Amino acid sequence: MQILVLPGDGIGPEITAATRQVLEAASKRFALGLDFIEDVAGHESLRQYGTTVRPDLVDKARHADGIILGPTATADFKDPAHGEINPSMFFRKRFDLFANVRPARTYPGLPARLGAFDLVVVRENTEGFYADRNMEVGSGEMLVTADVAVSLRRITRACCNRIARVAFELAARRRQHVTIVHKANVLKLGDGLFLEECHAVAQASPGITVDDIIVDAMMAHVVRAPQRFDVIVTTNMFGDILSDLTAELSGSLGLGGSLNAGTQHAMAQAAHGSAPDIAGTDSANPFSLILSGAQLLAWLGRRRQVKKLEIAAGAIDRAVEAAIAAGEVTRDLGGKLGTRETGAMLAARIAS
Ligand code: ATP
Repeated sequence: MQILVLPGDGIGPEITAATRQVLEAASKRFALGLDFIEDVAGHESLRQYGTTVRPDLVDKARHADGIILGPTATADFKDPAHGEINPSMFFRKRFDLFANVRPARTYPGLPARLGAFDLVVVRENTEGFYADRNMEVGSGEMLVTADVAVSLRRITRACCNRIARVAFELAARRRQHVTIVHKANVLKLGDGLFLEECHAVAQASPGITVDDIIVDAMMAHVVRAPQRFDVIVTTNMFGDILSDLTAELSGSLGLGGSLNAGTQHAMAQAAHGSAPDIAGTDSANPFSLILSGAQLLAWLGRRRQVKKLEIAAGAIDRAVEAAIAAGEVTRDLGGKLGTRETGAMLAARIAS
C-alpha cells in the first residue's frame, strides 16, 4: 500500500519525518505493508521546479493509496500563474476531498481548563467562502473598483448533503449526536439550504439525535461546555475557525489532527499551519500529523475492510495517550522532548 509523503514548509519536514517514523513502526508491528514514497510540494518544489505542485506529482498522488501533506506556507503562494499554487487547496479540489474531519479531545495528564471533552468537527471542504475553490474558472473574489471588493460564498445542496452524511455516519460510530452549526438567521438562503439538507439527513438517520446552533452562539457554548458536543457539522469557513478553537481548547494546536477525505482519495494534514516562528528548532509538536496519519489508516481500513489498519490506527492513538499521560511531550504541552525524540519515543511505544 503506497503512501505519498509531502513534507511541506516551515515545521512540515520535522513533523512529517516523525509521522513517517511512527507509521513505519505501525506498519512493521501490524504487517501493514506500507510503502512510503517521498516527494516535494510547497517552497522546496517551487525552488527546484518553479511550481509548488508539479503535474506529475498529481499522477503520483492519484495512484497512491493515501497522501500525507505537511503544513505548507499558504500565505506565501499568491500567484498561480508563476507556479505559486496553494498545495493544500490544490489536492482538496483536484481529488474532491470534501470532508475535513477534525477531532479534538482532552487527554488524561494534560490540564483540561474546561473539563474533559471529546468531539469532532466535520467541515465542508470544497465550496463556501473559499475564493480559491468555489469557482470552476476564475476566483470567487473580485475587485469591482479599487475600493470595492466582493467575495462570493457558494453553497450547493449536493455538497451539503454529502457532508451531512459523513457527519451522521461518524456519529453512528461515536455517541450518536450531531450538532449543525450555521448562520441561517442572516444567510437565509445559503445556510438555510445547509440547515435544510442536514435536517433531511437527520430524518434518515434513526437513533442519532440532532440540534442546531447559530455559529456565534456556538463559540460561547464550546468554551462553556465542550463536553456537550459529539459531532459538529458545518460549512467551510465556520469549520476552519471553530476547529482551531477546539484544537487549542484540547491543549494545543499541536494536537490538531485532520483528515481530508473524498470517495476515492484521502489526505492526512495537521489542522494548523507551517508555524514559521518555530521552524527548524526541533520543538514542534508532531502529534497533530501523527494523529492525522492514524485517521488516514482508519479511513483506509474502513474503506478496504482491512481490520489491521484500524487496529494500527487505534494503537497510534493509544500510544499518544500513553505518552501524554507519562509527560513525554513537546514544549507546547509542558514537556521537554524535541520533535525528533517524540517521533522516536512513539515509534518505540508502538513497536513494543
Ligand atoms: P501559517 O502562515 O502557515 O498559517 P502561522 O504561524 O500563521 O503559520 P500556525 O502554524 O497555525 O499559523 O501557528 C499558530 C501558532 O501556533 C504559532 O505560534 C505556532 O508556533 C503554534 N503552533 C502551530 N503548530 C504547532 C505545533 N505543531 N507545535 C507547536 N506549536 C505549534
